Parts: sequence; structure tokens; C-alpha cells
Amino acid sequence: MKKQPIEQISKQISAPLSAISSPQRIAILLLIGKGEACVCHLEASLGWRQAYISQHLMALRKADILQDRREGRYIFYSLKDASILNLVTVSATLSGLSAETVSTLINTQIHPSCECPQCAPALIPASSL
Ligand SMILES: [Zn+2]
Repeated sequence: MKKQPIEQISKQISAPLSAISSPQRIAILLLIGKGEACVCHLEASLGWRQAYISQHLMALRKADILQDRREGRYIFYSLKDASILNLVTVSATLSGLSAETVSTLINTQIHPSCECPQCAPALIPASSL
């Protein structure tokens, strides 16, 4: 195997790091966690405009960090490789937070004002999707 120059390797390594290097994107990763989330769920949880959230989701998908799947009128986003959460956890501890702080946030949490199939499965019967 041909040895790659360090500049090239470093550039490749920096790609996922720079893709997640904003508080907004970290928040999205934490909310998606090891499960999946639709835009409406992120909207309800974060209180941001949908267009703004979509913009970040698109960038994360382009960076190969997120994948999506459609189910009826919902598009669910999930992490392509959940080990990115380890990266987030390491960064959290470097910033002085405890790993527990992160692990309690890493989850697809049910949000009271969200009507996605995960938060309100009773409101939207799976058969109608
Ligand atoms: Zn939801």
C-alpha cells in the first residue's frame, strides 16, 4: 500500500470533526443519539425553525454522518456510525463536562409537544402512515 502524505491523511481526519464542530450540530447529534429523529421532533425539542434544522441535517448528511429513511410523510434521521457519539463524549469531558451529562442527553427523548410517531404513537396509528 502506498503511504499517504500526512497532509492528505490530516485533511481526511478533519472532515468529520469540522462537520460536527458547531453547537447546533452537536445538539442535533445528541437528540438523534442511538435512535432516530424526524425534523418535527428536532423542531419541537430545539425550538428552531425547520429550515434552519434542515440546513444542518443536510450538511451532516453530506458529511456522511447522518442517514435518512422515509416512512410515510416522515423522514427519520439516524447516525450512520454511532461511534461519533464517543467523539462528542470525549469533547464533552475535555470541556469539563462529565460523561454522564452527555449520556443522559444521548437518547431519542419523547417531547410533549411533538406529534411524530415516536412521541405520539397513539395520535398517529402506524396503519395510516
Ligand atoms: Zn417526536
